[in-house]
Amino acid sequence: MLSPLATGICAGVGAAAGLGLAWGGCAYAALWPESQIFGRTLTAPRKPGELALTFDDGPNPAWTPRLLDLLVEHNVRATFFMVGKFAEAEPGLVRRVVTSGHLIGNHSWSHPNLAMTAAGRVTEELTRTSETLQQIAGAPVKYFRPPYGARRPFVLRTARKLGMVPVTWNAMTNDWEEPSADAIAGWLTSAIDRQERRGCAANIVLHDGSHHGLGANRGPSVAAAGQLLARYKSSHRFMRLDEWG
Ligand SMILES: [Zn+2]
Repeated sequence: MLSPLATGICAGVGAAAGLGLAWGGCAYAALWPESQIFGRTLTAPRKPGELALTFDDGPNPAWTPRLLDLLVEHNVRATFFMVGKFAEAEPGLVRRVVTSGHLIGNHSWSHPNLAMTAAGRVTEELTRTSETLQQIAGAPVKYFRPPYGARRPFVLRTARKLGMVPVTWNAMTNDWEEPSADAIAGWLTSAIDRQERRGCAANIVLHDGSHHGLGANRGPSVAAAGQLLARYKSSHRFMRLDEWG
């Protein structure tokens, strides 16, 4: 296990201690986004004032195009962790994300809980998605976010073998349950400001799609992204994850 101080990343040691014994160390290692126990993941650097908007579970023809328009309006680049089978179904949308200047990452082929998926299928989920994205976008995929943040050492090793940096997050809420945009933005603002007080950048998760299928309503998530862009644009820098290494 690497010391967060030694690595200069914003790992959640305090949060781990606060969870107590009830949750159990193994669940913590497998699921807590800032845990480094099962292998190092990119969360966020010690760079307060920097924010990374990341969008999971797309591409989604119902909402990803509107999100891209919004990001253009604000001249901000973001990172999209795509589900492989949706990318295969929507190659034009994948290309539009890339040509708009955003980074794309691997979010598995079918969004299983990889902490509990057999090794052979883990390899297939990651390999097939990277190959599909590379074929569509014309460039290797260098970042991977495990669905639900669920992982075990084999999952992270496989991602690294395929040339990808595993990524988690440190600012998320339940936007996939479609609460109001105000509620989503409010919760994320608290999380971002909390990270800032810790001296950390914020790696923010929102969802432009749903792993249940194409076409999900992500209006509140996209509107919340608009609120965050308006609130932080003059005081913070929005980063693609590859600008953090
Ligand atoms: Zn997901």
